[in-house]
Amino acid sequence: MRKNVIAGNWKMYKTQMEASEFLQGFMPQLEDTLPDRDIILCVPYTDLFAMSQNLHGSSIRLGAQNVHWEAFGAYTGEISAPMLTEMGVRYVIVGHSERRQYFGETDETVNMRLKASQNAGLTPILCVGETKQQRDMNETESIICDQLKGGLANIDQTNLIIAYEPIWAIGTGDTCAAKEANQVIGLIRSQLKNADVSIQYGGSVKPDNVDEIMAQPEIDGALVGGASLQPDSFARIVNYQ
Ligand code: PGA
Repeated sequence: MRKNVIAGNWKMYKTQMEASEFLQGFMPQLEDTLPDRDIILCVPYTDLFAMSQNLHGSSIRLGAQNVHWEAFGAYTGEISAPMLTEMGVRYVIVGHSERRQYFGETDETVNMRLKASQNAGLTPILCVGETKQQRDMNETESIICDQLKGGLANIDQTNLIIAYEPIWAIGTGDTCAAKEANQVIGLIRSQLKNADVSIQYGGSVKPDNVDEIMAQPEIDGALVGGASLQPDSFARIVNYQ
């Protein structure tokens, strides 16, 4: 059974103080029963400890935005999967396009991070997506298939979420048409061994387009950047119809 999963990706926003202010505004707006969907907040490392305490006993799950592939070692500035799980983190975004673009992430390092996450009991959210130029050259399908093949080599597909994030739609307000996203997500599903993997759409998801996106048969959720930063807009998104 595929589960719907809405995840907020705060990127490099919110101090601990701002994170608690967010929760004060957000939690009261959550509808009482949303058993058909999981809600995740992927926050900066520095917010994880306070967030894990503040979310204790709530239905909101905690995620990180990156993880190293080694469990420990001389890797100055890095954070490992066991460090995250001990703090109550259950999910981690892997291979976000911003990490691929600015921090040298490759399909090979994505693959190592996925393995390390699953070994520690985390559920990784693997991001894939094409640039505007690749889309214009009709390369979407081959790019996505390559990212999946490289990223998912020898990866267990029972403990995995995938996010389709067309790079041209991230932070631009230029959402991929819901039907087009549905089609690409169908393609992604056809490449997987496990038909039960939840596949999210990400890229300018907002309160006014979430219902249409979530109504698509192949789309099982959303990975939300900018609109997850405000309690009102993220509440509207997680309470989608
Ligand atoms: P956006 O970001 O919702 O601001 O477009 C999505 C993401 O980068 O995960």
